[in-house]
Amino acid sequence: MVYDYLIIGSGIVGSLLGRELVRYQNRVLMIEKGVDIGMGTSAANSAIIHAGYDPVPGTLKAMLNVRGNALWDHLAAELFIPFRRTGSYVVALSREEISKLEELNKQGKANGVPGLRLLSAEETKERIPGISEEAKGSLFAPTAGIIDPFQANFFACENAVLNGMELQLETAFEDFLWEKNSIVGVKTTKGIFRARWVINAAGIHADEIMHKAGLHSDYRIIPRRGQYVVLDRNLFQWDKVVFPCPNEKGKGILVATTMHGNTLVGPTSEEVSDKRALFTTEEGLRQAIEGGKRLVPGWDTRWIIAQYAGIRATLFPTKDFLIEVGEVPGFINICGIDSPGYASAPAIAEYIIQKLREKGETFIPKYDFNPIREPRRLFKHLSVEEKKQRIQREPAYGHIVCRCEEITEGDLLAEIRGPIPARTYDALKRRTWLGTGRCQGSFDFPRVIEILARENGTTPYEVTKKGGVSRFVFSPTRGHYDL
Ligand SMILES: Cc1cc2nc3c(=O)[nH]c(=O)nc-3n(C[C@H](O)[C@H](O)[C@H](O)COP(=O)(O)OP(=O)(O)OC[C@H]3O[C@@H](n4cnc5c(N)ncnc54)[C@H](O)[C@@H]3O)c2cc1C
Repeated sequence: MVYDYLIIGSGIVGSLLGRELVRYQNRVLMIEKGVDIGMGTSAANSAIIHAGYDPVPGTLKAMLNVRGNALWDHLAAELFIPFRRTGSYVVALSREEISKLEELNKQGKANGVPGLRLLSAEETKERIPGISEEAKGSLFAPTAGIIDPFQANFFACENAVLNGMELQLETAFEDFLWEKNSIVGVKTTKGIFRARWVINAAGIHADEIMHKAGLHSDYRIIPRRGQYVVLDRNLFQWDKVVFPCPNEKGKGILVATTMHGNTLVGPTSEEVSDKRALFTTEEGLRQAIEGGKRLVPGWDTRWIIAQYAGIRATLFPTKDFLIEVGEVPGFINICGIDSPGYASAPAIAEYIIQKLREKGETFIPKYDFNPIREPRRLFKHLSVEEKKQRIQREPAYGHIVCRCEEITEGDLLAEIRGPIPARTYDALKRRTWLGTGRCQGSFDFPRVIEILARENGTTPYEVTKKGGVSRFVFSPTRGHYDL
């Protein structure tokens, strides 16, 4: 069997491209080394659909950010992705920073960002109650928005799968298959797969794969970690997206609301030597907290309920996205997709289809492609009458498993038995928002472990948080679980 397209990586870039490719009569295979889709950078970022004033004019980043931003409304409507155009503010905290706002405004206009406006100190304070008293003015970008990054990635991938994309989890790319000077497939940990086109959408590992294809041996991704804290939505309500003025290290530490009503504070910007350094540090969290308080002082560190880190895939020396179609025959290279990669992802998919057409590829529409992903509504979002009916039909909806987020056993079973079955705790968490409240899962862990073991036909000892060795239960303490 020869696939038309084989995608390496199931992040937002691979998933949206996969969905575009199955609109047409293509055989598409996605391979993902993780135990679930979307466990890479697409699951650890600021979740902002940036407006597009930040990238340098003339770069791919500038073009694809502005275009991608515009595509999100339609995409979110088709896939029922939680997405809200909140607008964003870059706030100057000193007179000197006002010139930076003017520069960003000019840059944004050159990039074609609609509706940018410079605001005075008074207007800034009036529009953002709680902003630092030091605020001297701001740049308002009305087209910026926020998204649920877990659901957007998952819904895009699930829609692609329901439209015929094959998905192989726990399948890591190892090398290319070559015939003469063309790439004709891949060797993976699960065997060989042949394809007319192999697509590198491997996030922070994309440079290693690009080098194996013989491209740009002098370019490399230097991993840059960003650390965050998350505030309890019951203790602090914040409905804005506020950045400080950017510096040479990046966009700076923001204070932003999320689609779930929590507040994010971060990210830091630290070069790290190891792409696996996905952990928070005391120093990083201190920087995130200090940066956040400089911008929005009125919150307390006791309101922090979670912390996390993500790694940016910044490509050196260009610092731009690198997208190449057919530079090596049979190979599509998507490398250096750091921020604003999430915002740009729909435009990256569109751009690649356009480049393939220019290469002479034909795209015959598939008559039964269904762009709509019907939502599986969580029990908590049903009316009282609907809840009664649901419990009557499926009693598992009557068992609350996660009290903070009101997630029922029925909600979990729907995901465990869904088109991309959730097989780990984190897979359920990303799909339902389980375990993200004040108690951070301490109430639901034992219940979820039992449900996953029962449904997967394993012992509780084999249930993992995110695959590999991330087990919850190692040995009996009070003889609860019989082996
Ligand atoms: C701190 C931080 C903040 C950010 N904030 C924003 C923001 O607010 N807005 C925005 O637009 N962007 C933001 N970004 C950038 C954005 O998150 C990324 O650009 C985007 O998620 C990249 O998606 P991706 O699909 O390219 O990569 P990923 O999501 O990392 O997906 C790559 C996939 O490839 C898989 N893979 C890797 N190697 C192999 C292999 N050998 N075999 C098989 N599979 C493999 C991985 O497991 C992973 O699932 C931020 C990034 C960071 C780190």
